[in-house]
Parts: sequence; structure tokens; C-alpha cells
Amino acid sequence: MTTEMINARLLSALESAVGAGSLKTGADLPLAALRDWSTERGGTPLALAIPRDTKAASAVIAACHAHGVGVVPQGGMTGLAGGAVPSEGCILLSLAALDRIEEIDPVSGLMVVGAGCILQRIQEAAASVGFFFPLDLGARGSCQIGGNIATNAGGNRVIRYGMMRDLVLGLEVVLADGTVLSMMNRMPKNNAALDMKHLFIGSEGTLGVITRAVLRMHPGVAGANAALVALPGFEAAARLLQHAQKALSGRVSAFELMWNDYYASVLAETALRPPLGEEHPLYALIEMQGADPDADRSSFEAMLEGAFEAGDVIDAAVAQSQRETEAFWALRDGIAELLSRRTPTINFDVSVPLSRIGDCVEDIRSALQDAYPTLPLLFFGHAGDSNIHLVAGSIAGIDPTGHGIETIVYEIVRAYSGSVSAEHGIGLHKKPWLAYTRNGNELALLRQLKDSMDPAGILNPGKVL
Ligand code: FAD
Repeated sequence: MTTEMINARLLSALESAVGAGSLKTGADLPLAALRDWSTERGGTPLALAIPRDTKAASAVIAACHAHGVGVVPQGGMTGLAGGAVPSEGCILLSLAALDRIEEIDPVSGLMVVGAGCILQRIQEAAASVGFFFPLDLGARGSCQIGGNIATNAGGNRVIRYGMMRDLVLGLEVVLADGTVLSMMNRMPKNNAALDMKHLFIGSEGTLGVITRAVLRMHPGVAGANAALVALPGFEAAARLLQHAQKALSGRVSAFELMWNDYYASVLAETALRPPLGEEHPLYALIEMQGADPDADRSSFEAMLEGAFEAGDVIDAAVAQSQRETEAFWALRDGIAELLSRRTPTINFDVSVPLSRIGDCVEDIRSALQDAYPTLPLLFFGHAGDSNIHLVAGSIAGIDPTGHGIETIVYEIVRAYSGSVSAEHGIGLHKKPWLAYTRNGNELALLRQLKDSMDPAGILNPGKVL
């Protein structure tokens, strides 16, 4: 059979699975399905299928398996590693229509959702019953929970509530041959053999397609105390974090750092107003959530006073209202606007042991400035989780492929025993660097897992490994 005949048969099977209106080909393929937020472009897909339920998603995957054609799962397309861009000749599988919030169980503190639910909707649904869903990131208005699970997203509050992995109780997944694997566990404790949901969390669509999830909600978050503080340098930041965790009994819910280059740029390039002067080396956004933020206020302020007295904090703006807290967060979320203004950029998402972040940032900065004196750099990140982001660029006219810049940064991260991906995943973009963080035995086991769970290489071909 020729490729044309195989493709025609496959398209007809897909049409029966999802209906003609939910299968897009050729000029009908939306641009949004061809790109994520990375610079990766991938290949040309055969079609985009948009199933309405698990049964239809399973039928799509089974048909692709039978015809030996790859499937690329797609969430909100906000990924920064090129994980969801098309592979050549593949079927794009959008989970967007699996967007039901099926159940909220306040007694058990859980929520059952379809993979296509937008993160912000889940946060709002939890809030509507007096709970809190802690995963939060700048792309909250467009990323989907299935994409968050597939990338094991991190975001702003990992320091208190953990990564996405820590917020998933159960999963439903479609395997490479179309088998539906239901693991919709609802208990925090379930040690009846290996907890297999973890194989799929962070697997970036290479081991299974997530269709539903049971999520853990957190109680007792009615608001937060927050401050933006200016610091003399990273060592003071590390001492401040330790001091705050001790003084507040481990209740710090966010500790975001913005180096001066980031802080000055976000003020210069957005309409946001400066809560503090722009002359300081480093800024921290520190937040403590709680059931009664007014009652927590005195201990939060006492913690800050202690840090002032120790000389670790030079200046501080303490939020007097929810609106002011949001204004501080807007400075941190301003990265989205900076990215769109500076494109093309290289966006790094690395982690190194917390105590070494300051030295690592300075080593990276001086190595890049030596090699590329005109390259703009922005350092910021979820430093409380050992996670630094660096935006290098625009790289236009400086290092058009970005490869030279990446080599410098990843060599330094490797020397610090860090990770080339703290939270965004490997996708297509970071494949060349994966071996900087995972050793040969780890990579061999990953390959073995992929080969045994997807021997025909149907799921997200060419990504991660
Ligand atoms: P997509 O981009 O569509 O896909 C990502 C990967 O998951 C791909 O490999 C895809 O194949 C796979 N996938 C998607 N859905 C499924 C599914 N249902 N089943 C199986 N595989 C699937 N990330 C963070 O971790 N922390 C941050 O703080 C953060 N901040 C961001 C800020 C901005 C402004 C932007 C643009 C992105 C940010 N990201 C962050 C990256 C991105 O938002 C996350 O990786 C997010 O989890 C991706 O979700 P998505 O639905 O957009 O997935």
C-alpha cells in the first residue's frame, strides 16, 4: 500500500472517531496547532483531531497505531521546549474538548477534571468551594491541566505545595495502542504496588495521552501576606529565605528572585509601576498564604524586621491589599510581555543546588558577557525551588542559532551538578542537552521504558529521547 493510501484510510478512520467537523487538514489546520512558545517548528502534520471524550481519543490513537502513524498530544500550546509541535506526517491530537470539571468533592479535598481544562478554570472552581488549587504559572489562562501534568509543571508555589506531581491523586491515560488505562485513584495513600501514574507525569506525551485526572485541592487559603524586598546580593537572599522559613514555620508560599537586569527591564518595557527603586542588585517577592492573612500579618512583618536588622534586606514594600499583592506578582508575570517584545530569545530554565545559585548566575553572566558583549540578559526565577530562568536575547544578529549561548550556559550548569530543565521539560529543544543532566544508565532505562510501552514509536515521535 502506498503512503497516500495509508493516509487516506487513516483519515477516514479518524473522521469516524471524531466526526468530520473535528478533523482538520491542509489549509484548515489552525496556526495555533503548529507552534508553541518555543522557537521549534517541527514538521508538517497530516491532520488535527479534536476528540470530545476518552473513547474518541482512544479510537484516534488506536487508528494511528494500526496505520503506523505518530500522534502528537497537544494541550494549550504554551510549552517552552517544543514538546507539542508537529512531527513530520503526524496526527495532532488536541485535548481541548475534554474540558469538563466532572466533580468536586470537598470532603476528600479533590476534583475530577478532563485533561483539556484550562488551569485558571480549575483554580477558580477550587476557590468557589473554599479550596485552593496551588499550581500557578504565567500561562494559567491558556495552559491545560493535561499539559501541566505531562510536563510536571512547577510554577510559583512549589516551595510550599510541591510540583504538579504532588497535586495528582489519579489519572486516566490512553496507551500507545489505544488501551484506556484508568488509575483514577482518590486516596492520598495507595501503596498497592508501584504507583504507575508517575510514569506519565512529566513524560511529555511520550508514554501515554492523559485524558482525565483526580486533583488534590488544599484547604485554608483565604489570602496572603506579601512583600517585595531589595537585597544586597544572593547570599542575603539565601539567608532571608532560611530566616523566613524558620520564623514562619515553613509557611513561605513563594520566594521569587529578580536580578536587577530583570527588574529594570520589566519596569522599562511595561506600564507597571516600581514599588522600590531600581538601584538594588536583587529583588525578592516573598509571600505567605494562610486562612487568616490579617492575623498572620504581625508575624510576617516581624520576620521582615528581623531581616532588616540582620542587614539582609535593604528596602521593602509590604502589600497593604490583595490589589498590591497582585501588583507585585504582575512584575514577575511581566516576563510574558518581555518575551514577546524581545523575540527571538533563548529561554533557559535550569536548576542548581540552592546554596550555589548566586555563584552560578555570576559565572554564567560573566562567561556570556565575555563571549557576546551586546547580548541582553535577564535573570529571575523560582529561586526558593533552586530554579533560575535566564532569557538571553534578542539573539538576532548576535548568535542566530543560539547554540553558542546554550553551550556556555549548559556547560556551567553541568559543572554545578544542575539540571538543564527545572520545570519546562525537554521536548525537541533540549534534546541535545539531556545527557548533561541524566547519566548513561538513566538514559538507557528511559529508552527501555519507551520501547516497552510504545514499541512502534507512535507517541510524540522524536521528542525527549
Ligand atoms: P503544551 O504546550 O500543549 O504541551 C506540552 C507537552 O505536554 C508536550 O510534550 C505535549 O505533547 C504534552 N501534552 C500536552 N497535553 C497532553 C496530554 N493531555 N497528555 C499527554 N501529553 C500531553 N512552566 C512551568 O512549569 N512553570 C512556570 O512557571 C511556567 N511559566 C510559564 C510562563 C509563560 C508566560 C509561558 C508561555 C509558559 C510557562 N511555562 C511554565 C511553560 C508551560 O506553560 C508549561 O509547560 C505548561 O505545563 C504546558 O501546558 P500546555 O497545556 O500548554 O501544554
